[in-house]
Amino acid sequence: MINLIFLLPLLIASNVFAAKQIVITVDDLPGWGLPAGTNPNFLDLIGDALVKEQVPATGFVIGKLASQSSDHALTLERWASKGLPLANHTWDHVKYSSQTVQEFLVGVERTENILLPIRKKYGPWPLAFRFPMLNQGNTLEQEVAANKYFQDTKTLLAHVSVDTSDWAFAQYYSQFLLQDPSKLKKLEDLYLQHIFDCLDWAEKASDHLFSKQIPQIILLHSNSLNGKLMGAILDGLKQRGYTFIGLEKALNDKVYASYKYKIIYQPADHFYFHMSNILNKPLPSGRDRSSYQYFKDYWEPKIKAL
Ligand SMILES: [Zn+2]
Repeated sequence: MINLIFLLPLLIASNVFAAKQIVITVDDLPGWGLPAGTNPNFLDLIGDALVKEQVPATGFVIGKLASQSSDHALTLERWASKGLPLANHTWDHVKYSSQTVQEFLVGVERTENILLPIRKKYGPWPLAFRFPMLNQGNTLEQEVAANKYFQDTKTLLAHVSVDTSDWAFAQYYSQFLLQDPSKLKKLEDLYLQHIFDCLDWAEKASDHLFSKQIPQIILLHSNSLNGKLMGAILDGLKQRGYTFIGLEKALNDKVYASYKYKIIYQPADHFYFHMSNILNKPLPSGRDRSSYQYFKDYWEPKIKAL
């Protein structure tokens, strides 16, 4: 007992009891294959689950998808009316490495023009941007031009510390919904295991590179799987001691602050990969759980065996 009393101030000072923090980000709004005229649709369900837990999540919009129909536009508006910010995910979701700087900037501007009236009505929110497929271009010209845009417009660059293969699970989910509903529950269980496996790896990487738990930024997508399971994901995060914060607050943390408006390192990958390069420290041993190859090797055979 004496030992514990003696240790308590040290434990508090070392942040052992500090709550872990996470930013929820949802990409590809309003959503691929959004059912026309359906209200609520999967993005509405995702938004409702976030609002229920008072999660200040940001949704990243593909301008071309948003302008597909009035249903798509209204879905975005309903997201914003819940108090959830919208941000930019390019016009047409093309990899930056296969675009010219001019094509990239014109597309980003077009999407900003769609977001502007919604932000005026429901904002203010900070401007924010995420690269499709996390692809940050492959030339110095592309890097300099993007950084200039982020810096000049004070547009937050949404780095990702927990990357998942949710989109690959979602493809099976859609297929099973139509063809094999008896397998859905088991797929949902596997999916939740996958999400928390990716989170475990990200926590390990955080300890490895920074000797502490940094605010995590998780990337999920607007799809029917997350429409069903966002509530369960949030419950699981709370059980693990996470509190939910907004993107700007996370990027103000000193591990991210230098890169708030700046590409870290160009290859398409997550925050730990970039920082492992910058700090010249290896990532944790064992396979990177967020890689698609890991999904192919570990999770997909389990899905196929259901
Ligand atoms: Zn995307």
